[in-house]
Amino acid sequence: MLFKDFSVYLQKIEKTTLRLEITDLLSQLFSKLSPTEGKLASYLLLGQLAPNYQGIEFNLATKTMIKVVSRAYNLPEEEVKKKYKEIGDLGEVVWQVAEGKETEGKLSIEEVYRHLYKVAKEEGEGSVERKQYLMAELLKQLDPLSSKYVVRIPLGKLRLGFSQLTILDALSWRLVGDKSWRPLLEKAYNVRSDIGIIVEMILNHLQKKEKLEVLKELLAKMTVQSGIPIRPALASRLPSFEEIIAKLPQAGVEPKYDGLRTQIHAWREKGRKKDSLFSKETDVKVKIFSRNLEDLTPMFPEIKESAIELVERSNLQGVILDSESISFDPQTGRFYPFQETIKRKRKYNVAELRRQRPVRTYVFDILYFDGEDLLTQPLSKRRSYLNKILAKPVGCLNLTPQHLVKDKKEMETLFEEYVSAGLEGIMVKKIDSVYQAGARNFNWVKFKPSALTSVEDTFDLVVLGWYQGKGKRNKFGIGAFLVGVYNPRDDNYLTVSKIGTGLTDDQWRELHKRCLEIKAPHKPANYVVPKELACDFWTEPSLVVEIKADEITRSPLHTSGYALRFPRLVRFRDDKLPTQATTPEEMKEMMEG
Ligand code: ATP
Repeated sequence: MLFKDFSVYLQKIEKTTLRLEITDLLSQLFSKLSPTEGKLASYLLLGQLAPNYQGIEFNLATKTMIKVVSRAYNLPEEEVKKKYKEIGDLGEVVWQVAEGKETEGKLSIEEVYRHLYKVAKEEGEGSVERKQYLMAELLKQLDPLSSKYVVRIPLGKLRLGFSQLTILDALSWRLVGDKSWRPLLEKAYNVRSDIGIIVEMILNHLQKKEKLEVLKELLAKMTVQSGIPIRPALASRLPSFEEIIAKLPQAGVEPKYDGLRTQIHAWREKGRKKDSLFSKETDVKVKIFSRNLEDLTPMFPEIKESAIELVERSNLQGVILDSESISFDPQTGRFYPFQETIKRKRKYNVAELRRQRPVRTYVFDILYFDGEDLLTQPLSKRRSYLNKILAKPVGCLNLTPQHLVKDKKEMETLFEEYVSAGLEGIMVKKIDSVYQAGARNFNWVKFKPSALTSVEDTFDLVVLGWYQGKGKRNKFGIGAFLVGVYNPRDDNYLTVSKIGTGLTDDQWRELHKRCLEIKAPHKPANYVVPKELACDFWTEPSLVVEIKADEITRSPLHTSGYALRFPRLVRFRDDKLPTQATTPEEMKEMMEG
C-alpha cells in the first residue's frame, strides 16, 4: 500500500472519537495489507518503529523538527516557528505549508518505514545534522497529508487516540466479525509484547485461509522467549486479612519491597550449555526489563553480572526471573525509598550510583528454566526451581522469602514483622496459580498498612490537562489539574479528580514544567471529560502521577463515576505508561473494600 493511501486511513481515524468506528477502520485497513505491511503499519499506527522493549528512539526535538520543515519546504525557520506557536501542532503546520507543493507521493508504507528507521538509527557525532537531512529528504517525497503524519511520528505525537488493545480488537473483527477473539490475542500479546508479530501472524493466517482452529493452536503455543519481555503479572487488593484468606486459602506470603520491578533474562547465545566449566569467556547474554518493558540492562550492571554468575555457576542454558530491585545504603544495609532506586534510570553516572547505592534484587518468580516455559506451571513448582538455584544469594540476587500460611493470625504476624522492618507490606499469592502474564487478578493480592486505616491506598492517575493559575499559584502557571483513570475496555481515559491543593510549591513547579512538555493542541480524542471540567490546556496521555486520597466517593460529574476526597500528589510515576494507570475496575474494588 502507498503511504498516501495509509494516511487517508490515519485521517479518518483521527477524525472520529467513536471506538467502534476506529476498530472498524483499522479492520478495513488490515484487510488491504500484506502480513509484512500490517506489521510495519501497526508500529506506525502507534507512533513507533518497533515494540517498546527494543528502545528505538528518534531523539528528534521539536526545535530540530522545525529546522527540518524549513529545510524541506524552503521556508525561513522563523516563519515555521511562528506558525507552530499559532497552531501548536507541527503536523498541521506541515500540512498547511505543503499544500500546493504537490508531490506524487509514490512511497509505500514499507519505504517510509525504512526511511524513518534510518533516521532513528543515526547516532553519535553529527547525528542531529544527519537526522535533519534524512527527514527533510523524506518530506520532500511525500504528499501533504502523509507529511502531516510523518512529522508527528518522531515527535511522539501521532494522536490517533488508541493503544494496542484496539488493534487487537480490530484483528478479532477481521477474524470472526466481533471482539470475541480479543482475550486469546491478548494472551499471545502478553507473552510476546510485540503487536507487530501478532498482526503479521493473523494476516498470514487470513492470507492462507486456514481454519480458525489452526490459528487457535498456534496462538496457544506462543511460548516465552529469552530476550523478549513478558508483560508482568499484577496484583489486586483486598481490604482485610479475612477476605484474603477466604479468597486464597492456600497462600504463600512474601514481603513487599518498594523498589523497581525487574524481569531478568539470562541465556546462552548458542542455546547450549558449556562443555567446560573452566572456560573463561562467557557466552551468557542478559537483558533486564522494567514493569513497562523498557530495557534497563545498562542501568543495573550488578544485576547483569549476578545473572551471568547464576547461569554459569549452575551451568544452565537460560532463565527468566521476575523480581523487585531496591537500592540500599552499603554502610547500614538499610533500603532507600523508591525515589532513590529510580535514579538509576538517569542512564549516566551509573558506576558512581552503583558504588553509593547498590541494588539488591529479590527474586520472587521464575518464568523459564533451562528450555522449559514455566508460565503454566503452578507457583509452588516454580518456587521449587527458585529454591534450587537461589538457595544462597548469587551476587545481588536473593530469593524472596515465602511463607505458606493457613490462617489469619499467621498472615497478620508476618505482615506486622515486615512492616516494622520498614517494608511496604505483603504480597499474598495463590500457590497453585499459573503465571498470568499482563493480568491483574486474585492470584496475587497486595496488602499495605494503608488498607488498615481510614486512609485509602494510592492511585496511579493520568494527567489529562491543567487550568490557569489564579491568585497565589499564578506564579507556578498552573492552578489545578485534571486526572483520570485508564479504561482498558474502551481504550480511553475517564476523569476522577480536579486537583487544586495537596502539592508543595516545588511539586507545582515541576508539574507545570512537565505539562508544558506534553501540551496537546486540543483535547485528545480518547479523553472522556464532562463540559464542566474542560481544561484550559490539554496534555497528551503520558504523565502518570501517584495520588493519595482519604476516600473514594461516587460521582455524578466525573466520567469514571468516581471522585477522590482530599487528593494529594505523592510522586511522579515515571515507571508507568498511561495505559498502566489505575482502572475503573480497580476503583470499584477499592471503594467496595
Ligand atoms: P501495580 O504494579 O500493581 O500496577 P504499582 O506499580 O503501583 O501497582 P504496587 O501496587 O505497590 O505497585 O504493587 C505491585 C508491585 O509490587 C509489583 O509490580 C512489584 O514491582 C512490587 N513487588 C514488591 N515485592 C513483590 C513481591 N514479593 N512479589 C511481587 N511483586 C512485588
